[in-house]
Amino acid sequence: MSAGFRHHNLLGIADLNREDVNQILDAAELFIEVSRRPVRKVPTLRGKTVINMFFEASTRTRTSFELAGKRLSADVVNISSSGSSVSKGESLLDTCKTLEAMRPDLVVIRHAASGAPHFVAQHIGCSVINGGDGAHEHPTQALLDAFAIRKAFGTLSGLKVAIIGDITHSRVARSNAALLKLFGSEVRFCAPRTLMPSHAETLDAKVFHALRSAISGADVIMLLRLQKERLEGPLVPSLREYARHFGVSQKHLELGSSRAIVMHPGPMNRGVEIHTALADSERSVILDQVEAGVAVRMAVLYLLAKEVRAQTATQAASDAG
Ligand code: ASP
Repeated sequence: MSAGFRHHNLLGIADLNREDVNQILDAAELFIEVSRRPVRKVPTLRGKTVINMFFEASTRTRTSFELAGKRLSADVVNISSSGSSVSKGESLLDTCKTLEAMRPDLVVIRHAASGAPHFVAQHIGCSVINGGDGAHEHPTQALLDAFAIRKAFGTLSGLKVAIIGDITHSRVARSNAALLKLFGSEVRFCAPRTLMPSHAETLDAKVFHALRSAISGADVIMLLRLQKERLEGPLVPSLREYARHFGVSQKHLELGSSRAIVMHPGPMNRGVEIHTALADSERSVILDQVEAGVAVRMAVLYLLAKEVRAQTATQAASDAG
């Protein structure tokens, strides 16, 4: 397994370089095998505690962080806003300080506010992992997407990646653009004008408003749902209208490169951004993404816990004088 990881937290792809990404993906290659064994457990994080704090809905991310921790033998606790003291008016900081006093090693946070995990990381000592903050970043999603892309093409460089959907409100689009830029792939954002951020070009993406040109020659066709929970007012005339202009079906595949793959971070809205036959087609790697999600999260937990262990050892040595 790889040498020490240089980060204490995983807050965004913006903090990583190519080497960091490769280190995580290489570790995930080893961990994906664990999930395929009859006994899906290794003792790597025995004695470590992971707290998952999900203040926004989640199926894939929450479940896969939980499985990732359990497959590494960590103790995993899940907290959601509805069943916790957050619903009684406790602040995010007080909740985090309270949980920190129980001495977890790693905390995973999903929150509707952009920057929430960064704020928490400034106030607590254990490692913080961003499980998705508002429309800002979703680093483990981009890492698992990178894992699936690397598996399909053997590289993350020199590819054309079309990301189609509600770009404005998508943390997945932002994290993917940042990661693919590190490796020199071309990122294309495609959305109606009302769902395209005005600063899209500053994210190093090419901007498209027509589906066919965005998909033309693309190696990866990544679809995003409309982030209804973040839409302020109607930004598309109707779902039917949106699907007519931006819904991707199998007939669009012929526009992409001959080896094009179809991705979606989930949850899918079949019949809106993706036609059902395409979602279930041979070109779709959507379930590979889900499988990669557990392995990548195992890798992230492992590498950050390793960093924590290294720090504790240094601390212990300096304390001993
Ligand atoms: N699951 C992804 C996220 O949490 C994508 C989505 O919800 O549309 O950002």
